[in-house]
Amino acid sequence: MNVAMFSAQPYDRRFFDEALRSAYANSGVDITYLDVALSEDTVTLAQGFDAVCAFVNDDLNDSQLERLATFGVRAILLRCAGFNHIDMAAAKRLGLFVARVPAYSPEAVAEHTLALVMTLNRHTHRAYNRVREGNFMLDGLLGFNLHGKTVGLIGTGKIGIATARIFKGFGCHVLGYDPFESPDFGALGDYVALDDLLARADIVSLHCPLSDSTHHLIDRDRLEGMKRGAMLVNTSRGALIDTAAVIDALKSHQLGALAIDVYEQESQLFFKDRSSARIDDEVFLRLMTFPNVIVTGHQGFFTVEALREIADVTLHNLHCYMVGKACDNALCPAATA
Ligand code: NAD
Repeated sequence: MNVAMFSAQPYDRRFFDEALRSAYANSGVDITYLDVALSEDTVTLAQGFDAVCAFVNDDLNDSQLERLATFGVRAILLRCAGFNHIDMAAAKRLGLFVARVPAYSPEAVAEHTLALVMTLNRHTHRAYNRVREGNFMLDGLLGFNLHGKTVGLIGTGKIGIATARIFKGFGCHVLGYDPFESPDFGALGDYVALDDLLARADIVSLHCPLSDSTHHLIDRDRLEGMKRGAMLVNTSRGALIDTAAVIDALKSHQLGALAIDVYEQESQLFFKDRSSARIDDEVFLRLMTFPNVIVTGHQGFFTVEALREIADVTLHNLHCYMVGKACDNALCPAATA
C-alpha cells in the first residue's frame, strides 16, 4: 500500500522508518514523505497513492476529499488526536476509511502545559538570557507559588486528567468543567459550572476539542468573567479562544498572562522556518509585543514517546484497514482495501 505523508518533517521520517524497519517490516506499506502541507495547491501530489497520512494543519475539507477520492485514495490516516480539520460528513459520503491516534501520550501535552505555566510564571526564559549577558538583577522576574492556587481545567478527558494530576502534585486546588464528567477527574478535583470555574481560577487551561460548539469558547464575555489577572493557557486548538478579544483583555490587564501552544491562524506560520521571512500576521505580531505572553509552535505532542506511539498506532490503523480488521481508532470505517 502506497502512502503519501503530507507535512512530513525529518522526525516523522525517523519514527515511521523505525517502525517500518521493526514492528511493521514486511507489512507491504511504502511511505512517500512530502514536506508540503495538504492544500488545494498540493492535493494533486496524492495522485497514484492508496492512502494519505495527514497532520493537524493539513486541509481535509469537502473538495479536497472529493479530489483525493477521484485520485483513488481510499484511506486517510490522521497522525494526531484532533479531527477538526477533516470534513467527516464528506469522508463518510465518499466511503473513505479515516482513523486517528486518539491518545499517543496525554502526559506529553500535560507536561508541556506545565512547562508553559512555569516558564511564564517564573520568567525562566528571561532569566536564561539575562544570566548569559551577565545581568543578575531579579527585578521583573517575580512569580507566584503554584502551591495553594486554584487551577480550572476546561475539558477533563485524557490530557485534562493528566494535567490535573500534575497540578494536584504542586498542591493546587483543581476545578474542572466538562459536559461529560469523569470519575477519574472526580478523584483529583471538583466539577463546577463553567462560569464558576472562570470566576475562581488563578490559572485556566483548555483541554477540550475544537468543534462548532467550542469555537471561541473563550470570548469577550468569558474573559470578562475570569478572575482579574488570571493566566490563560491553551495547548488544545487555537480557535478555542478569540485572539482579538484576548489581546484587548491583556491590554486592560483583565488577563494577567497568556501561554499558547496553538494559534487560530497557525497553519500560516507553524512547522516552518520563518526566521528569514516577513511575518504579515498583525494579530500574531501584536501578541509578540506582550512580555506576559509566551507562544510555542504546537510542540505539546513533541516527545520521543509520543512520536513513537504516533508512528506505531498510525501503522496499526493502516494494517487493520488492509486486512479488514475492525479498528478501534477508526472515525469512519469503510470497506477494506
Ligand atoms: P479527550 O477526547 O480525551 O478529551 C476531551 C474532553 O473535552 C472530553 O472529556 C470532552 O467531553 C470534553 N469536552 C467536549 N466539549 C467540551 C466543552 N464544550 N467544554 C468542556 N469540555 C468539553 O481528548 P484529549 O486527548 O484530552 O485531547 C484534548 C485536545 O488536546 C484535543 O482535542 C486536541 O485538540 C488537543 N491536543 C493538542 C496537542 C498539542 O500538541 N498541543 C496534542 C494532542 C491533542
